[in-house]
Amino acid sequence: WDDVACNVCGRQDGEERMILCDECDCGFHLECLRPKLAEIPRGRWVCWGC
Ligand SMILES: [Zn+2]
Ligand SMILES: [Zn+2]
Repeated sequence: WDDVACNVCGRQDGEERMILCDECDCGFHLECLRPKLAEIPRGRWVCWGC
């Protein structure tokens, strides 16, 4: 979790705003998603690639 980089912008900062895909474990910032999310979703979340 510490070394997870955002799959969109490639940065590792802002991990409190980052969510992980439940399928591929890729990280994404909430604001890097399209459409972006206002808050971390509860429960299961999968990226657009999965
Ligand atoms: Zn990002
Ligand atoms: Zn995924």
